[in-house]
Amino acid sequence: MTALARVLSHIDTDEVVELTRALVRIPSVYRPGDPDANEARVAAFVESWLRREGFEVETQDVAPGRPNVLGWIGEKTSGARSLLLEGHTDVVTEGNPADWSWPPFGADLVDGRIYGRGTADMKSGLAAAMVAAAAVKRAGALSRGKLVVGALVDEEGGMIGVRHLVNTPIGRELDAAIICEPEDNELCLEQRGVVWARLRARGRMAHGAMPEAGLNPITCLGAILREAPKLEKQLRKRCERSRYLRPPTVTPTIIQGPPAGIGVPQSNVIPAVAETVLDVRLTAGIDADGVRDELEQLCARAAAACPGVKVEWEPVNPFRLATRVDRSEALVRSMMRGVRQATGRPPKFGGVPGSTDGTVLRMELGIPIVTCGPGNRLIPHQANEFVEAAAIVDAAKIYAASALGYLEA
Ligand SMILES: [Zn+2]
Repeated sequence: MTALARVLSHIDTDEVVELTRALVRIPSVYRPGDPDANEARVAAFVESWLRREGFEVETQDVAPGRPNVLGWIGEKTSGARSLLLEGHTDVVTEGNPADWSWPPFGADLVDGRIYGRGTADMKSGLAAAMVAAAAVKRAGALSRGKLVVGALVDEEGGMIGVRHLVNTPIGRELDAAIICEPEDNELCLEQRGVVWARLRARGRMAHGAMPEAGLNPITCLGAILREAPKLEKQLRKRCERSRYLRPPTVTPTIIQGPPAGIGVPQSNVIPAVAETVLDVRLTAGIDADGVRDELEQLCARAAAACPGVKVEWEPVNPFRLATRVDRSEALVRSMMRGVRQATGRPPKFGGVPGSTDGTVLRMELGIPIVTCGPGNRLIPHQANEFVEAAAIVDAAKIYAASALGYLEA
C-alpha cells in the first residue's frame, strides 16, 4: 500500500460528516457586546479534538473570547516546507430563523446534505482539514515538513485572526496555504480584492427652509453616486481581465447624512456632513496607489460639481488587493495532482468573488495560496445554507493528497 493509499484509508465519511455537524451545532456568530457570542466555544472544541489526535497545539488570544487555534504535525527543518490548511471558526448571523426550513444550528442531515449556518462557510471545510491532517498523522505518512491546521477567528469581520497569525512565529514560517472556503472544490488561484472607501462630504449646517444659508452635503453625495460608474469604468481599464472572476465593481452600500455619531437626522435640518461607503471589488493589475489615485479623482470630480462642499475619503480598513497565484507554483501542481489522486477527476479551476483570510496571507507573507473547499460558492450567508456530505469527504481527500505531495516533494 502506498503512503497516500494508507492516508486515504483513514478518511471516513461518517467521521467527516459528524465532525462538521458537531462544529455547526456550536453557534459562533460574533455579536459585539455579548460576551457569549464569539468563537470561544467552537475554538475550545477544535483545540481538544486536535489534542486528542495527538497534534501539537497553540492557541493565540487575538481578542477576548476570540482565540486562533493552530494544530500541527511534523516540523519545519531546513529544506522542508510548512503548509497551512486554513479555516475560520466564525459564522455570519442566521438572520430570521423563520426564513429557514431547518433549525439554523441544528445541522440536520437530509438526503446527503447538512443544513445550517456555517455548513458551507465554513465548518465543513475546517472539518475536512482537521480530518485530512489527522489521517496523515494516523497513517504515519509525513516524513518531512510541517502540516498545520489553522482555525482562525473573525474572517467575516476585520480578519483580526489572520492579521494576528502573520505576526507570530508559526505564521511567519509558512510556505503556502490552502484556504478551505466553499468553492465547489475547484482550485481557485485568483481572488478578487476589496476596498471599502468611506467618502465624506462636508458642507454647512442650515435650516431646511433656507437652503441658501447652508451648503448641502447630501446633494454632493448625489454627485458622488453619479460618478461611481465612472470609477468602475476606470478600474476596469486598469485591472486585468480574468477568465474566472467578474471585472471590478463599485457598489454603494451605505449612505448616511448626518453620519451616526456626528449628528442626529432631522427633517428640517441640512446636516454639516454626509457620507457614503463604496464597496470596490478589484481584479489583479492595480496596486494600492492606483486605487487611491482613482478615488482621489472621484472626490475631485464630485467636489467640482458642488462648489463649496469638501469631499474626502478614507479606507474603512486596510486594503485587500486581488490575489493571483501562478499555475507553476509547487502548491498548485501538488493540488492538481491531489485532486486526481483523491477523486479520480481532473481538477477544475475557478475564482473567488470576494476576499478571504488567504488575501492577508498572500499580501503580508507573499506565500502562494489556493482557495479550495466544499460547498456551493453562492450559498454562504443565505438562509437554508447547506453542504453536500460527499463534497466534504472529497475535500478531505484532496487536502490530504495535496499536502502529502507538497510536503514530501
Ligand atoms: Zn468564509
